[in-house]
Amino acid sequence: MARIVRKKPFIRKRPCQFCLSKEPVVYIDYKNEEVLSKLVNLQGKILSSRITGTCAKHQRAVALAIKRARFVGILPYIGLVKRESKKETVKTEKVEKAE
Ligand SMILES: [Zn+2]
Repeated sequence: MARIVRKKPFIRKRPCQFCLSKEPVVYIDYKNEEVLSKLVNLQGKILSSRITGTCAKHQRAVALAIKRARFVGILPYIGLVKRESKKETVKTEKVEKAE
């Protein structure tokens, strides 16, 4: 039997931005809003290392820093919330039926 070998699509791994800097970053400051705001999406969620390219070691430090920043009030817990318009559509359907 011939084995089916699927080719993996080549994805270049993004280098970790904290490892790349000249001085090795050991501690990520929670007060540094500029850096932390880039690692959070619009909803206020922490972006995964798969997207940002941070290594496991620094991702842990980033998560800790973001959580601290949230507690202090620098970063929001929730950003823009997607509103589902399901309820509205149901209501309009009922109105149309009544008419
Ligand atoms: Zn790193």
